[in-house]
Amino acid sequence: MQPLSVYVHIPFCTVKCGYCDFNTYSGMDNLKEAYGAALVAEVHANASLLSGRSIASIGFGGGTPSEVAADHVAGVVAAIREHAPLEPAAEVTLEANPGTLDRPQLEALRAAGVTRLSIGAQSFHADELRFLDRIHSPQATAASVEFARKAGFESIGLDLIYGLPGQALNAWIESLVIAIRLGPDHISIYALTVEDGTPLARRVRKGEVTPLDPDAVADLYEAATDRLAAAGYLQYELSNWARPGHHSRHNMIYWTDGEYLAIGAGAHGYLGGERYENVAHPRAYIAAVEERAPAPRPASESAYRPGAVMAMADWVSLRLRLLEGFDQREFDARFSVPLRKVGGAVLEDCISAGVLELVPRVRLTRAGRLLHGEVSARFLAHLQNTLAPTG
Ligand code: SF4
Repeated sequence: MQPLSVYVHIPFCTVKCGYCDFNTYSGMDNLKEAYGAALVAEVHANASLLSGRSIASIGFGGGTPSEVAADHVAGVVAAIREHAPLEPAAEVTLEANPGTLDRPQLEALRAAGVTRLSIGAQSFHADELRFLDRIHSPQATAASVEFARKAGFESIGLDLIYGLPGQALNAWIESLVIAIRLGPDHISIYALTVEDGTPLARRVRKGEVTPLDPDAVADLYEAATDRLAAAGYLQYELSNWARPGHHSRHNMIYWTDGEYLAIGAGAHGYLGGERYENVAHPRAYIAAVEERAPAPRPASESAYRPGAVMAMADWVSLRLRLLEGFDQREFDARFSVPLRKVGGAVLEDCISAGVLELVPRVRLTRAGRLLHGEVSARFLAHLQNTLAPTG
């Protein structure tokens, strides 16, 4: 059987940032002990799904996984290993925020088996960090990188956000230059988006904040593409650059149709062609695990099996996030139908428009990287029009 990955969600943050719509909560310190125990119980309840598999990667995401004690992380990793061996090159990756990290904790996380750290730097300007409601300073990020190096992590990544209201090109470049100077193995950049229901969306609606013009956001992305390449980082995904050998093996699972088990409140999983989601609120999650374990997937709240149209559209959309694109024969084998037959017209249109190329793999051109959403939407609409109602 193919190796399996595991996603573990930690839904706690010191402060909920005004732009964030992730499943995360502040002010719930009193739940952390019970939550850690529920994670371990959920892993054991999933013994039948883990057994006979090896583990390619474990990803702790959130929320802020570095908000919980390293003991809880160690407990989850150990519980997974009781049922399935880690592959020799397995990656255990954890998202961490400066301001929640100190040296003893980083050493404890490393000892717990975490190999890779993804640090939420977001910006190296104090005013931008304040706008984003982040609790840390630029100096705290630099200290976190230094401590992480000393603790012996194999890969250290920095995440940055661009496209803040009023953000000037030189301010963005300064953040990038400082990030590069810290020497991380991996850099991710994400455009700030205004998500419905967030405090940021309310501020935009009231006219207190004006989002940056999309053309200006695109200019920032282009500038980052040039800077990161010049600094020796290889872009392998729309938002991700790495030094050779340091790409995120865990995230590659999501982009290449790999299977992953969901552990934790609101975690998403993908097993046997079915996508499922755990109950979102940490209190409800703990109660569900206590009530239903040892039945497998004790916290699973909803599940669905994508129809042919959605499965094909998702597959193409995710593969096109990768700079290497995909071989059409992979699609043909996965869906037992030639891509040319179901999507040839869209492919040709996108190639004529200069957003896709065949080299011989199908991939976005540099201009097309800014239009990934549009290309994916066109592909989906075409399949819906030509293949429905099979999807
Ligand atoms: S630290 Fe991250 S997950 Fe937590 S509220 Fe802020 S953006 Fe959301």
